[in-house]
Amino acid sequence: MARYDFRTPRLYISGDLVEGGEVSPAEAGIHYLRNVLRLSAGAEVQVFNGRDGEWLARLATVSKREIRLEILHRLRPQPQPSPLHYAFAPIKHARLDFVVEKAVELGAGRITPVITQHTQVARVNIERMRANVIEAAEQCGVLALPETEDIISFAGWLTAVDPQRTIVFCDEDAEVSDPLRALREAPDAAFTLIVGPEGGFHPKEREAIIARNGVIRLSLGPRILRADTAAVAALALLQAARGDWR
Ligand code: SAM
Repeated sequence: MARYDFRTPRLYISGDLVEGGEVSPAEAGIHYLRNVLRLSAGAEVQVFNGRDGEWLARLATVSKREIRLEILHRLRPQPQPSPLHYAFAPIKHARLDFVVEKAVELGAGRITPVITQHTQVARVNIERMRANVIEAAEQCGVLALPETEDIISFAGWLTAVDPQRTIVFCDEDAEVSDPLRALREAPDAAFTLIVGPEGGFHPKEREAIIARNGVIRLSLGPRILRADTAAVAALALLQAARGDWR
């Protein structure tokens, strides 16, 4: 049985959450409560803001123009952000929404779009990424919202990775070997995962990553996975081997 109550609707609220306080959802939240769930005054929902944990709230007033929520009591404390960072070469729109949503569900604490040599996308809509993060968090029960970073060059990203971190490099050219074993045997550290673009990593990028201390060159098996498939597979393997599933 999941540890969370998935029956009661969950809603992201930007304002502070304190017992006895009152908050109003944003436009999208009002639409969801009133027109999608068709809730009326007295109904209860779970609210979170990414800072104050998760609270039970009651619809105090439901009018044409606004909904006021009365904050009742805290259900879950605010957890620490996940130490798992996920960097990826952005892919086309729809699949990017998918990748961001899966990264939230699979426990990423930071999501960074990285422009590599073969990346076919020049810009990423950060606001859209942030909206996808919130929607995924409402659905999957995440309270510590992953940070979404602005797009960065491959060289800028590699330089910025904390030297204490281990980079899990999903390398389609790596020798096929057991990924779970590779991840289980890695020294204790926080992990930064990177997945390349549809065109794969440039040899110079591969060289630069491998030259760094603290890299696991991860094979995801003998098949070439699409970038979004590779992201889901790698995040799941990382959680299974060293993450919050143990
Ligand atoms: N253009 C590359 C090729 O044809 O060899 C394929 C790139 S693949 C579509 C996109 C990214 O997913 C790769 O850069 C890598 O990060 C990851 N990936 C895909 N298959 C993988 C595998 N079998 N092992 C490790 N990483 C893989």
